Parts: sequence; C-alpha cells; structure tokens
Amino acid sequence: MDSENEGEGYAWEVGIKKDVIDMLTKEENINIASDVDMVRKFERKQYMDKMKANSQTKSMIRYLSIVIDLSSSMKNTDMKPTRLAVTKVHLMKFIANYFDQNPLSLVSVLGTGNGRANLISDYFSSPNDHCDKLKEAEVQEGDPSVQNALELSMAQFKEVPRYAFKEVLIIYSSMITCDPGNVFETIDLLKENGIRVSIISLSAAVFILQKICSETSGEFSVAKDNTHFEELLQRNLLPKVSLSISEEKDTLLVKMGFPKKNIVSQPVICSCHKLLNCVVFECPKCKSYQCDVPSFCKVCGLMLASSAHLTRTAQHNNPVDNFKIADDLSDTKITFHKEGDGDHIMIENQEIPPDFITCKGCEKQCNTKDFKYISICPKCNSYFCLDCDIFIHETLLSCPMCD
Ligand SMILES: [Zn+2]
Ligand SMILES: [Zn+2]
Ligand SMILES: [Zn+2]
Ligand SMILES: [Zn+2]
Repeated sequence: MDSENEGEGYAWEVGIKKDVIDMLTKEENINIASDVDMVRKFERKQYMDKMKANSQTKSMIRYLSIVIDLSSSMKNTDMKPTRLAVTKVHLMKFIANYFDQNPLSLVSVLGTGNGRANLISDYFSSPNDHCDKLKEAEVQEGDPSVQNALELSMAQFKEVPRYAFKEVLIIYSSMITCDPGNVFETIDLLKENGIRVSIISLSAAVFILQKICSETSGEFSVAKDNTHFEELLQRNLLPKVSLSISEEKDTLLVKMGFPKKNIVSQPVICSCHKLLNCVVFECPKCKSYQCDVPSFCKVCGLMLASSAHLTRTAQHNNPVDNFKIADDLSDTKITFHKEGDGDHIMIENQEIPPDFITCKGCEKQCNTKDFKYISICPKCNSYFCLDCDIFIHETLLSCPMCD
C-alpha cells in the first residue's frame, strides 16, 4: 500500500468505493449494472481525452514486449475460470487490435516463472503466430522474476532501430519477485535506453512495480475485475508520446518498401513460413515472396507496408478533437435536433431540452437527463452517445459527420 494513501484502504478498494458512491447518490430508481457500465465508459472517455489533449508527436513505429507472469498465482480463480485463462483471452484480442491500430508496429511475448524469463513468441511473428504460441503457455513452478523479464526485453530491444519506440507491458499476478541482482540498476538502464514500462497487476499494488512504472514514465494499474482488466489493456493500444524522439527532436528517414500483390496460378513458397501460397507480396528490393504485409522481408530485412497502413498510422498524430460533454454547454447556445415527421427539425436556443436526442452514429435515443453521457463534436456540433464517442476516438479516428 502506498504510504500516502494509508487509511483509505487498498488501491483496489478505492475504485470500487467510488463507483458505489457514484451510484447511490444518483436517483432512487437505479439500474446498478448499467450505471456501473456507464461510469466505466465515462472514465474511459475521460482517460482518452486526457491522452488526446497531449498534442506532442507520437511514435508511429512501436516495439512492444508483453510479459506474462506464469507463476502458480495465475491459477487463482478470482477471475473465472483462472487468471491465466482470462489473461490469454484478453491478450489475444489485444494483439489483434494492436496490429489493427498500429500496422507498422511489432510485438513479442515473454513469460516469467521459476525465477527466469523465457521467450514465447518473437518480433517477427504474425498476430496468428502470437495467438497460437500464447495458447500453449502454461503455469510454471516457482516465483516470477521482474528483473529477468526486463533484462530479456532489453536484450531484444538491442536489435531494434533507433527511430522505434520501445515499450514493455507486464501482466503481473504474484505479490513477490525473485530477482538475481539489484533491480534498481535495471531501472536505471531502462531510463537510459528510453524504454517505457507499464504494469497491470491482477492482485494488488506492489511498491517495486509502482516504482518501475513511475521511473520509466509508464503506467501502473490494478485490475479490479475481468472487465476492468480488459479496459486497462486497451489503454496500451494507442501510441503515446515517444520518450526518445521528444528528447532528440530530430526527424529520421525510414526505408520502406511497398510490395506488389501477386495472385499466381502456380503456388510459390513464401520466405516467411516456407509454405506454398497463391497470393503473395513481392519485395521490391530482393524480389522474394512474403505472404502478408505489413512485415519485414525475411531475406533483405526491408520493412514492407501499404499506403493504407501508413495513413492509418499517421492518423494517430492527427487525432479527432475531443468531444465536449453536453453538460458543459448547458448554459451556452445549444442546438437540439429533434425528430420530426420524416425530416429533422432544428430548434435553436430551446429552453426546455427534448427528452431524447438521437445519436448521429448509431441512431440510439439518448436520454437528455444523462447529459454527462452525451458528447458533442466541436466542429460539426453533432451529438454522439458514449459508445460512439469511444468508437470514433479509439477505432475510426475521424468524425463521420465532419468528413
Ligand atoms: Zn509466409
Ligand atoms: Zn526483400
Ligand atoms: Zn451512438
Ligand atoms: Zn464532427
């Protein structure tokens, strides 16, 4: 427990207490399940907005090393069926989304148990390869080692180009770490190399884990339950401000190839999996075949991507403006859109707001009593529900009504 928070209870209790108080101070007829859901979504929006407000350059090419604690504490059943099973399911979903949001980035997965750290899948694996290997990961005897896991991640980062942004994400379940040396020396090395470490604990706040995160500008969090754990993972999807680039403030040129997609009648062997394929991408430099982009050419090492991947990645540096909460504007000029007999009727400066506002994204009727959960695009003044707001900022990356 953090000494500053003494008397407040454990970190994991604070969030729950806040949610319960939030719920009970609302109206009498409360639907607890949907209220908790809304509170969580609102917190997610607030977190996202905070991140977006930071308009510094974000790194487009990320190298993420995911470390999973594989000690026996992962057999704990507080998350059903076990912590390990839940972690695997969420991580597989996370990896798929990660490649979707960051097409030019790479992931490796490590495991720690028995006082050691071992590689589960390396940077050159495709999302499917990662998931296949992750499924096979099993609980090991003995305690996990944070230091060994960080050292192994750092060894992997040695091969990484200078322009890339290096991150470690640890899913930690145990309350102890079995380290061979001084972990503070490892923290200094992490800082020197501009590596950001974020940790999600599945049990409670542990001092050394918090220390690693705060020293490396990462984020430490404790998962309250299954859903909260998934949300905490999602926070690592979008790129953050790069540590190394923001310090150096220089521009780097990156060599990249845009391969041609070939559909051939006679199957050819791909250089990545050594398998026969009819649809292949030809490397513009060495003319070898790859079965998928974005990837690195296995023969000449050139980064292969399509223009769509570049656009998607560049959008992160051009984010959609934060949507305002309808409540913020209650005393200023608001235009309410009300459904008429067919066409939309626009009523300006209406003093009594209508009971329901239609979301421009999914056409859901949003109750205007819950103003906090209705967002307004500052450019086109369209109303969106909380789900659409999150979808626009996390996945779509552009306002459908502005464009
Ligand atoms: Zn292949
Ligand atoms: Zn090549
Ligand atoms: Zn909506
Ligand atoms: Zn808009």
